[in-house]
Amino acid sequence: MAALFPLLSNAGSVEKEVFSIQKDSVSELLVITSIKPLALIAQAALGETAKVEFLQSATQSAHDLTLTVSALDKIHRAVLVVLVGDEFEPRVAKLVQDIPGKAFLNVLDLPFFSSDVDIHGDMQQKSADPHLWVNPYSANIIGHAIQAEFGIAKRDIISEDQIKALKKSLKPVATLDYISHHDVLGNFAKAFNVSAGIPIRDGNGGHKGVKSQLLLRNVAHESGAQCVFIEPQYADKDATVIANELNLPLRTIDPQGIDVPLTEKGYAQFMQTLVVQFKACFS
Ligand SMILES: [Zn+2]
Repeated sequence: MAALFPLLSNAGSVEKEVFSIQKDSVSELLVITSIKPLALIAQAALGETAKVEFLQSATQSAHDLTLTVSALDKIHRAVLVVLVGDEFEPRVAKLVQDIPGKAFLNVLDLPFFSSDVDIHGDMQQKSADPHLWVNPYSANIIGHAIQAEFGIAKRDIISEDQIKALKKSLKPVATLDYISHHDVLGNFAKAFNVSAGIPIRDGNGGHKGVKSQLLLRNVAHESGAQCVFIEPQYADKDATVIANELNLPLRTIDPQGIDVPLTEKGYAQFMQTLVVQFKACFS
């Protein structure tokens, strides 16, 4: 994390030169993130300052990415690598940390997420749930940390007004329940005061035992779950079977934002799309 500072902010005049040289040449400043949602956050936070790319492919689960040759090349060219954290992506994290002098940011290690202090009343952020990006307050904190790495002014990637509008639109479905593919929407639920859902799989996307599969069906029935969410990255038979058994519709939700473009407004767009997809469960 510290290594980027000497590179970009030795002195005011030097700093400007670095940026202008890099911008005029073919090689822009490149920021690499492990997963797509972090790329949405980084691009929204940095705007024109840097080009952002990510390692996750459209068909790959966000959990513990495997690395290709082109991914290694990207990591080596990047001035900053942004990761969720060691536990979420052990392979990528180890590789990045073993490159001498490589600047990286482990989001889960940011003081706000690693401490037990409840700073924002709306969030009650305390858990080690790695799916931080589905909470817009957390996304702003991550965005600010990335901006700080480049020494650029702190600016929200989704405004308080935009968050408020989303909260308002979710109010009518606040008490309604649903079945999710895996435990991915906990932080979304905290931010917007909606149900965190009943996950088919655990927080890492792993299969649960027969006993909890049975329990899931009972809980889903009792809670009056209205749909089963599937995620595009997972071709999931479990979800289809459960939806059939409980006579519930299947709905697609994409917490990875695979179709959302990397732009300055990309993160806000991702959050708006996610809310629309979420509400579609109950329509
Ligand atoms: Zn996940």
